[in-house]
Amino acid sequence: MDIYKEDLHIHTNFSPCGHPSATLENIIAESVKKGMKKIAITEHYYSPESNEGDGWVYTTPQKILNHLKELKEKQAELKPPFVILIGIEADVRKNGIDYIPEEILDSCEIVMACLHHIPGTKIRWNHRYGEEEHGIVKQVVKENGKAKLIEDTLKLYLKISKNRRINQIGHPFKELAMSTLTNKENLIPEDLLISFYDNLKENNISLELNPSIWGIATPESKFFIRNYIDYLKLAKERGVNFYFGSDSHRPDTIGQNSRKEIDELLIGRK
Ligand SMILES: [Zn+2]
Ligand SMILES: [Zn+2]
Repeated sequence: MDIYKEDLHIHTNFSPCGHPSATLENIIAESVKKGMKKIAITEHYYSPESNEGDGWVYTTPQKILNHLKELKEKQAELKPPFVILIGIEADVRKNGIDYIPEEILDSCEIVMACLHHIPGTKIRWNHRYGEEEHGIVKQVVKENGKAKLIEDTLKLYLKISKNRRINQIGHPFKELAMSTLTNKENLIPEDLLISFYDNLKENNISLELNPSIWGIATPESKFFIRNYIDYLKLAKERGVNFYFGSDSHRPDTIGQNSRKEIDELLIGRK
């Protein structure tokens, strides 16, 4: 089977970053057109400690609970000819995803965890490419050094890799690809990577192959991308399972990919 017939990272327009056309009806119609076999709706869920000024706290526990319920009801009504899992993209904070009420986790068919914030700050890695955001990265680096920030980031990954409520980790290391942190002198420490991967395998958490990482282009990220393939291959060697997630915010990008050979190598032809 074509590995891209499964896409486990899709948003509806419930998320403020979702395109207005991203209704469940349109997502189903597009998926039928593309012959999808399985998709997952993973709506953003942010902690109340997120930067409210940036508009990232857009929902409340009650609103997301109602929304998940509505999606399930609509799915039952529309009867799509393929599997849809309904869940969340949980934003990882210093305590992992502990801020999420149990009731929400219980109502999810899939829980994906993703890093969006620079550890120890309320600032998103990717909110403003290269401007204020990188100024803050520079400030954090000036205080503690690059290696420390890479290590702090990996510690968050280690934390979530021990949480059995999590099914999958979305856009892994994308924040490191976007920042100017990794270079020839500053790699992700292999011992931390191996512990992370071994935890994922033990706790049955899969790792996402995300097409957006390949498109990031700064001189530093080009260096990162070369290493990224090795980071993923190491995960495969340690027995980690992969899945494909397009992170679609509009229906037409469902199943859209960019590095078929690598994805097929890592997911394995089905
Ligand atoms: Zn994300
Ligand atoms: Zn997403």
